[in-house]
Amino acid sequence: MYTVRLEIEDSLRFFLDQALRGGPFDFTFPGKRSLKDLVESLGIPHVEIGGATVNGSPAQLSHIVAHGDVIALAPCAPVSLRPEEARFVLDVHLRKLARRLRLLGFDANHREGRDDETLAATSASEGRILLTRDRGLLKRRMVTRAMCVRSTNSDAQLAQVIARFSLGPIIAPFRRCIECNGPIAPVECGPARMDALRESVPPGVLSWCDEYFECSACRKVYWKGSHYEKLLRIVRAAVEDR
Ligand SMILES: [Zn+2]
Repeated sequence: MYTVRLEIEDSLRFFLDQALRGGPFDFTFPGKRSLKDLVESLGIPHVEIGGATVNGSPAQLSHIVAHGDVIALAPCAPVSLRPEEARFVLDVHLRKLARRLRLLGFDANHREGRDDETLAATSASEGRILLTRDRGLLKRRMVTRAMCVRSTNSDAQLAQVIARFSLGPIIAPFRRCIECNGPIAPVECGPARMDALRESVPPGVLSWCDEYFECSACRKVYWKGSHYEKLLRIVRAAVEDR
């Protein structure tokens, strides 16, 4: 049997069993294992580990743990993404979060019914950050850019994602279709185009609004109506919370 001492920073203790959240503790296990396997057996997804030391020296997650090691684990520090890097793929249960990210202009790939393998493969092949609450999915070695979303509330989830990836400065509303994630662009409001809009915009809106946006994929039309006020509230709350 191997016994190691674990010193885990506060924000990572969320993933531990309640009984282990109090402070440093000893952990005993049979057989050799890597640091990655050890932290995941404790419930901490490897993608949530920002840094580790073993007996005071920096260690990779591939490090093979030895009996008597003192292991310290730190969470990921917030990172700043460039706009082109802020691309996500979301687990099936995060539909509301996907819609909120799209509201703020981020490329948020989400479809119902996808299995874990497809999600992990999409993240790896398209360079998308995987967002999920499923720790089993995050254990896959293919998954290297990911975040375990902790809250069950979509507004709180949005605030967590904004904080982790410093998204505040690159929020750009009216860039992504909330329904399909396609890019949206301003509509040229010439007479012919306005005739076409009559099919998808209520007459009461056409009477006062002369600025429209349209999804290039599903053709859904957007305008700055009452939902725009709600959008602004979400943006403000998200940025203030970060
Ligand atoms: Zn669309």
